[in-house]
Amino acid sequence: DSRDFDEEVKSVCPFCGVGCQVSLKVKDGKVKYVEGIDGPANEGRLCVKGRFGFDYIHHPHRLTKPLIRLPDAPKGLNVDPANPFTHFREASWDEALDFAATGLAKLRDERGGKAVAGFGSAKCSNEEAYLFQRFIREGFGHNNVDHCTRLCHASSVAALMENVGSGAVTATFNEIENADVAIVIGSNPTENHPVAATYFKQFAKRGGKLIVMDPRGTALQRHAAHMLQFRPGADVSMLNAIMSVIVEEGLYDEAYVEKFTENWEDEKAHLAGYTPEKMEGICGIPADTLRAVARAFANAKAGMIFWGMGVSQHIHGTDNARCLISLALMTGNVGKPGAGLHPLRGQNNVQGASDAGLIPMFLPDYQSVTEDSIRGHFNAVWGSDKYTDGEKGLTVTEILDAVHAGQIRGMYILGENPAMSDPDVTHARQALASLDHLVVQDIFLTETANYADVVLPAAAFYEKSGTVTNTNRQVQMGRPAVPPPGEAREDWAITVDLARRVGLDWTFTDPSQVFAEMKQGMKSLDNITWDRLQSEGAVTYPSLSPEDPGQPIVFADGFPRKDGRARFAPAEVIQPAEQPDADYPMIMTTGRQLEHWHTGSMTRRSKVLDAVEPQANCSLHPSTLRRLGVDPGGKVKLQTRRGEITLLARADRAVAPDMVFVPFAYVEAAANILTNPALDPYGKIPEFKFAAVRVVAA
Ligand code: SF4
Repeated sequence: DSRDFDEEVKSVCPFCGVGCQVSLKVKDGKVKYVEGIDGPANEGRLCVKGRFGFDYIHHPHRLTKPLIRLPDAPKGLNVDPANPFTHFREASWDEALDFAATGLAKLRDERGGKAVAGFGSAKCSNEEAYLFQRFIREGFGHNNVDHCTRLCHASSVAALMENVGSGAVTATFNEIENADVAIVIGSNPTENHPVAATYFKQFAKRGGKLIVMDPRGTALQRHAAHMLQFRPGADVSMLNAIMSVIVEEGLYDEAYVEKFTENWEDEKAHLAGYTPEKMEGICGIPADTLRAVARAFANAKAGMIFWGMGVSQHIHGTDNARCLISLALMTGNVGKPGAGLHPLRGQNNVQGASDAGLIPMFLPDYQSVTEDSIRGHFNAVWGSDKYTDGEKGLTVTEILDAVHAGQIRGMYILGENPAMSDPDVTHARQALASLDHLVVQDIFLTETANYADVVLPAAAFYEKSGTVTNTNRQVQMGRPAVPPPGEAREDWAITVDLARRVGLDWTFTDPSQVFAEMKQGMKSLDNITWDRLQSEGAVTYPSLSPEDPGQPIVFADGFPRKDGRARFAPAEVIQPAEQPDADYPMIMTTGRQLEHWHTGSMTRRSKVLDAVEPQANCSLHPSTLRRLGVDPGGKVKLQTRRGEITLLARADRAVAPDMVFVPFAYVEAAANILTNPALDPYGKIPEFKFAAVRVVAA
């Protein structure tokens, strides 16, 4: 009987940033099934990943012992998939930790701390993210430490920090309950944030006006009052046109703009050049529709704006987010019920890992690494004088460029999979293969671990204690339901042991001690304690008192910027870095599918999810398939200036005839072999959402 269980443990779903709370039903040391419980973000709901995507933790390919690469074993993916461990030998923890730490310390001592860099993980807890950034900063003295936020919402955070003064959402997504208009742009929440999408659909059912904007059709458009299927990469022209109507027709909130903003006159003057009539030919949306949408949003009593990677993953991602911020500010839609700016976060703890300082330009709570006093504060908290570098560090893709340049020779990678997730992944794989010393810590022998010199086996999320922070700023407690397999250990404990071996005097014996230290440098955690999280499960930051469950809406009385004012940042239209041409005439965009999470390391090892989506695929318009002479279910070859892949083609009317959509979870046809590594200059995020591609029958 599948309903039969010995024990029930409350934790948090390990996949997306919605942060659904779950009840794990355990029998005979295994998770048998999962149910949703009444968490603040999910109220009992779960999607297919949360409900069925748990059995990867019991998969026979879990790492159970430390591994050391055999002498002369080749690095890379060309290993026998049936025997994935053939290039490694098992080692004791002592031997593996000594080997890992000695290699990193030797590079530091012989070539300087900057010879070593680190990628931490948004799938680990806040405490683990905090310890990881401290490991690099204190142990190696610099800021070359980053994680997958760089590939996700870094441009959104850059725009929010610049213009609002805070990188987090201004309102929880549940606030849509109090909105009368909501824009969802560059986001496919039905697949990527499915439980959040249920709130959006209920909003529409109640009569709320949903406005969906996306170059690709999405399931949410069935619930929308307006669907704006704009040309890929034309976001700024469309958003500027909408805002120009609000200015031209005097629909802006003059009192709000006057009281809470700056740079309005520049914004107004800038928008005069972007009338809908001028922009309709660029963005592909008729002027009448742009005007109707502008009026609908400006006349709302309360409006919210949600966005995803379709906005952020462009070389103009920061400009896209600047436009959305300006739209909310000019209509007074921040800081009141039913209003706000909400970039929907990807990974379950990408918000928390960023808050904890796992980024190269900020210490915990987004405190600048360039400020001597702030670095001094953290050195004092750490009882150390080793963190000296006041320069902003390198980002994920810049670190791999520095490996190619010979400046970085060693890396510690925890729970990230750059051999699948980076743009132009061949370049990333070559970098990993060229390192003198690579330490990878993970739950599986991932594609990246295939390049490692030493692999440290880690506990999965349902096997450990730790806090995580979701897209809503809700800090939640994750609890262990089952023990890790074999000799696998919790990530925080492995990092502590490595730290001691590279010369740091760390004494942590429990993650609650790490959380207590974090509070010494993070005002956002005021009034939030480990004990509170154990008993309450979740507290939203900011929390104003030990009894306050937290503030779902922030900035009612002004912004954490000079004079309390948010700033309008006018944005110019910038073309995508690579345009279709005679050789590569179509546009490729990448993304996720409902069943598979990111690089697939967990969901492709989950029986139900892999059964539903077992095969690498791409989506093309039926007319495009006819032109290519390919039947739905046939094979196509996709080629860009970086490489080629062959995969199954699906017919999908949601994709424009000149586009192809490719999910990036499949190693056998890795979408990132094709993607363009060009970066947004502010957020340093790659242009995953636009590459010129040739599609042919295979
Ligand atoms: Fe997990 Fe996200 Fe699905 Fe919730 S919506 S169950 S957090 S994947």
